[in-house]
Amino acid sequence: MSCLYYNDNQLFIEHVCLADIAEQFGTPCYLYSKKCIIDNYRAFRDAFADIPHQICFAVKSNSNIAILQLLADMGAGFDIVSGGELKRVIAAGGDHKKVIFSGVGKSEQDIEEAIRIGIFCFNVESEQELVRIAHLSAKQNKIVNIMLRVNPDIDAKTHSYISTGMRENKFGIELIDLITLLNKISELTSIKLIGIGCHIGSQITELEPFLLAMDHLLAINATLKEQGIKIQYLNIGGGLGIVYRDETPPSVTEYAEALQRKVSNTHLKLILEPGRSIVGNAGILLTKIEYIKNTGDKHFAITDAGMNDLLRPALYNAWQNIMPVTEHRGPELSYDIAGPVCESSDFLGRDRKLVIQPGDLLAIDCAGAYGFCMSSNYNSRCRPAEILISGHDAYLIRRRETIEDMIALEQLVVE
Ligand SMILES: *Cc1c(COP(=O)(O)O)cnc(C)c1O
Repeated sequence: MSCLYYNDNQLFIEHVCLADIAEQFGTPCYLYSKKCIIDNYRAFRDAFADIPHQICFAVKSNSNIAILQLLADMGAGFDIVSGGELKRVIAAGGDHKKVIFSGVGKSEQDIEEAIRIGIFCFNVESEQELVRIAHLSAKQNKIVNIMLRVNPDIDAKTHSYISTGMRENKFGIELIDLITLLNKISELTSIKLIGIGCHIGSQITELEPFLLAMDHLLAINATLKEQGIKIQYLNIGGGLGIVYRDETPPSVTEYAEALQRKVSNTHLKLILEPGRSIVGNAGILLTKIEYIKNTGDKHFAITDAGMNDLLRPALYNAWQNIMPVTEHRGPELSYDIAGPVCESSDFLGRDRKLVIQPGDLLAIDCAGAYGFCMSSNYNSRCRPAEILISGHDAYLIRRRETIEDMIALEQLVVE
């Protein structure tokens, strides 16, 4: 399900025509549908309404502060992976008491700051991290909450770059290390174990890996209980997939029902960390065709957006639908949609049947997650503007970068 639709051969988001946006704000730019984000969040919240739960939006999937503000206003907590993301949550008016800090490489500085601000808890991924957090917590005379992120060794059946719960991945704590860790925790007075969790990967399109992961967490909980250790939270992470093309991920309702069945007879509160499934289908990248090149029997549409603006196709060979903003009649040709960056991996789509000409606008669908937030300045390209669409209105939520912005931190050598 996309937030895009045609009316009279013109592409729209909510009540706004994309051609008008290009005229007003220029291209390339990212557009997000406010209604779609709200609907996705509500679907999650309502699906889990029968059990105690907290949704912590994964900030890394879309970290624009206006998007975070929207989610904060609906009561969302946040899953962060850096001190920078924590600052964004605060800037967006998010509640620091609903922030979970994940990630394998938390720096001393970031941990210290998170303790000072008073986040809800840390998702701990190693013994060294545990010791570091305990030390920094003691230094501030505090007791901080932690959850242990275990590695359940489950194949999430997704792209290897976004699979995170298998033994060979760097994430989480191996089960065999858990017991020693529990002994360690019992000796440390500046931390409190409140839960266990896992995050097995992203763009997962089957229920089974989630259910296996949940079984693992429940088994660990049973072991903890036997040892007299009581926890309050189970964290199942994020990872629910969306439809980019012809995938058939479980619906949020199916996902929720299956998980609820597993936890309903425990007294544990469920933590969810969805990212992609909240914002993925709520955003698009709008780009203009600069040139059309025909080489032998291949046709290229060269766009003003490239891999630096949207990395997923180049990085994961990801497929995202590409739609003309104005539909033309005529014979379709097969095009590779490529950006201006000097890399052959710089493509947005391959073998797309389109009726297009230079100057036409294209919308790259489902770019709301891992889109802008993965963009870079490679080739000294200014990052695109971001715009939030709400009904008939368009709000600029990040202005287009300028060359001055880009070189502002650099300086010439004066000898
Ligand atoms: C990336 C990540 C998420 C979000 O994953 P999605 O696939 O976007 O839902 C949640 N939790 C952790 C720990 C993550 O690293």
